[in-house]
Amino acid sequence: MAYGKLKTDLQHLISELKTHGQYKHERILTTPQSARIGVKDGESALNFCANNYLGISNNPEVIKAAKNAMDKWGYGCASVRFICGTQEIHTQLEEAVSEFLGMEDTILYAACFDANGGVFEPLLDEDCALISDELNHASIIDGIRLCKAKRYRYKHGNMAELEAALRDSQSNKYRLICTDGVFSMDGDMAKLPEICDLADRYEALVLVDDSHATGYIGKTGRGTPEHFGVTERIDIITTTFGKALGGGNGGCTSGRKEIIELLRQKSRPYLFSNTLAPAIVGATLKVIEMLSDSCELRDKVWENAVYFRKAMIAAGFDIVEGNTAIVPVMLHDKPHALKMADMLLKEGVYVIGFVYPIVPKGKARIRVQISAAHSREDLDFTIEAFTRIGKELNLI
Ligand SMILES: *Cc1c(COP(=O)(O)O)cnc(C)c1O
Repeated sequence: MAYGKLKTDLQHLISELKTHGQYKHERILTTPQSARIGVKDGESALNFCANNYLGISNNPEVIKAAKNAMDKWGYGCASVRFICGTQEIHTQLEEAVSEFLGMEDTILYAACFDANGGVFEPLLDEDCALISDELNHASIIDGIRLCKAKRYRYKHGNMAELEAALRDSQSNKYRLICTDGVFSMDGDMAKLPEICDLADRYEALVLVDDSHATGYIGKTGRGTPEHFGVTERIDIITTTFGKALGGGNGGCTSGRKEIIELLRQKSRPYLFSNTLAPAIVGATLKVIEMLSDSCELRDKVWENAVYFRKAMIAAGFDIVEGNTAIVPVMLHDKPHALKMADMLLKEGVYVIGFVYPIVPKGKARIRVQISAAHSREDLDFTIEAFTRIGKELNLI
């Protein structure tokens, strides 16, 4: 029995994870995703750890659009796009996303993880180079692994190191700088104006993964390129429909026409994986329509985030500076991040503590994610709970 030996090894690995506090337990929700969620045992909690920035993951209009799309287009297509998996709504969504993001064309994927997995290899070969921020999302890292281009990595947000990589890689045919638009752990934004300036100076292309930004960053929610006013300088945007844009599934790559055209011919997660289900497509179309008509939700999450940040700083907490809906409450090397998260949950506030190795040593934190669905009372309740427990633990 080959499995006997593997089984013992796996049991050992699993118990090691538990010993080191690295074993992930999944909390089971008994309600839809929302500002307030039910958890097992009948408790309920205010939810401050979802990527539901615009608060529309349980929006009746969005659900109705998903149902309508299912009624009209069926449950699934049972095919990849290039065989018989392209319905009119798929091309409509691609056009709507292109228009929303201000890009020439868009290609859909089952997830942004797949978009990133399939974007590099068709475009770049061993005579090219990829230059990546060290804190980029796992799916960018995996996408880069699947590609033969030379790899350069710069320290998070360090423009001198990025420039050094651009100087070192000058003999390559093409260079592509890739960065998250908003970084999920610190909630900070990539320095897109500087990145674009360097890209111009050294003739490199720029890819932004705007998964934590699309829908709510920028004056009208178009993301970090809009926020910085550099949209036409970005060659490729990858993003997800699974966060602010409704929180279902799906993602895309948006960008220059020929790039998207080639991806449609060569990108493996597109060619060899099922088309997006009609319900997701219909709902995402609705979300884009809603966001194009009104900035109300985007303004609300922004206002909420500013309010929460200010109040937490006033209460004495160490908050990472930033202007997104990700608000990290830093506890540094204090052993309290996990304990504090547990205590907050008992008070009815669901947040997650992050400790090493998810974040660097000495950078333990509680990450708070603000949503447009939170009311002022929700925010005040949470600030009050943080303050009380923070005092109890001698953190403030
Ligand atoms: C969440 C996230 C992804 C993955 O998106 P999915 O659509 O859930 O696969 C990719 N990149 C970044 C930066 C993300 O934050």
